[in-house]
Amino acid sequence: MDHRDLRRDDFWRRIPGYAEVDGGEFHTHGFQARHTVTNVRQLRETVGNLVPDSLYEDVVGGLKNAPMALRISPYLLSLINWEEPHSDPIRTQFLPLASEQVPNHPELRLDSLHEQRDSAVPGLTHRYPDKALFLPLDSCPVYCRFCTRSYAIGGDTAIVEKVKLSARIQRWDDAFAYIASRPELEDIVISGGDTYNLKAEQIQMIGERLLGLPNIRRIRYATKGLAVLPQKILTDTDWVDALTRVAELGRRLHKDVVMHTHFNHPNEITGTTQDAMDRLTERGVTVRCQTVLQSGVNDDPATMQRLVRRLGFINIHPYYVYFHDMVPGVEDLRTSLATGLNIEKHVRGHTAGFNTPSFVVDTMGGGGKRDGHSYEHYNRETGIAVFTSPSVKPGAHFLYFDPLRTLDEEQQRRWQVASERHRMIDDALDSARQPTRR
Ligand SMILES: *Cc1c(COP(=O)(O)O)cnc(C)c1O
Ligand code: SF4
Repeated sequence: MDHRDLRRDDFWRRIPGYAEVDGGEFHTHGFQARHTVTNVRQLRETVGNLVPDSLYEDVVGGLKNAPMALRISPYLLSLINWEEPHSDPIRTQFLPLASEQVPNHPELRLDSLHEQRDSAVPGLTHRYPDKALFLPLDSCPVYCRFCTRSYAIGGDTAIVEKVKLSARIQRWDDAFAYIASRPELEDIVISGGDTYNLKAEQIQMIGERLLGLPNIRRIRYATKGLAVLPQKILTDTDWVDALTRVAELGRRLHKDVVMHTHFNHPNEITGTTQDAMDRLTERGVTVRCQTVLQSGVNDDPATMQRLVRRLGFINIHPYYVYFHDMVPGVEDLRTSLATGLNIEKHVRGHTAGFNTPSFVVDTMGGGGKRDGHSYEHYNRETGIAVFTSPSVKPGAHFLYFDPLRTLDEEQQRRWQVASERHRMIDDALDSARQPTRR
């Protein structure tokens, strides 16, 4: 039952840069925002001699090949175990190390999900029949190394020049007009970037505009905020009041308004998260969690079980666990399909069914999310899985590839030869097309 042990100690005081900061100051969104670390100089000034110089050099090297800019809140920085930064799950997600980077899988693509190709207007992806993804902005309170939307989110990096999705009212109006023109749309995901970075007035305006459309029945605000800066829910009353007003409007109109958030490891959940969730529960806001399966972070059954139990304990419904998308620059974080399917078996049955996440592959090429277990074909030797998506792209096949480092040496050699690669993929597609035995 250690999922109930949520830390409430002054953990940040071990960090030299925060040693003199008391809880009243540390646990405000103002302090967190003002002291967010966005470069290695600030990181060094804050963490100081807790780690050897070589670690900072390693981060400098890591950033040279990173698709995401550096941005981490004091809260997260303080939750890292700096005595063992290499194995720490929070460090792994936010600070790239050159010493851990591995070559990309040959089939990786930026915007592997075709979010831009499936865009009806810039920043609005309409792929599924009744729901669409609205990206009102391109910034977040922190930047995750593994972001699926690294083609757009955060500042440019040494290897990625970003598509801009700025918070402009003209672009939003185009999105609202499109949504109004498509009666089949009922459900809008408001994501980003991160809706935490929208102003209170913007939260309210977007909510009112969407709920005011007769076809819209459900909206969700997506934010990683609860996991990286729960203080905002406790001290930014304007923002929380705006969200509450939209939720109340939804109830009056008999429409559904929820928050979707993103926790990946039980260490990201503290007493402060619980306080923030208590506030949202009092305000009647339902919260669901979407987790990303990552090597060295949560790719073992015990960690995932603890995460799921801890989320449930503070009233967050675990909704999805995503297999890591096929995006460049973070190949060290991907796992094989087999690893995730095994974890799923351990998680299912561990707690309430409605608190049991689906383990999904968001397919490359815009086939949408598929249950990991639903593959048409999976060859564990070559690491190739084939999915279909009859309700999104009938007749098409979609591929997922296990990381090469999880294959045996002979198979890894085959992947290095282009002709062998194509043969392996063609064979997998042929097997998937075989009439089924059913
Ligand atoms: C994930 C996603 C949605 C929402 O899908 P759910 O399975 O309902 O959570 C909608 N549109 C796009 C483009 C998405 O990627
Ligand atoms: S908070 Fe979400 S959108 Fe922002 S960097 Fe992280 S994964 Fe990407």
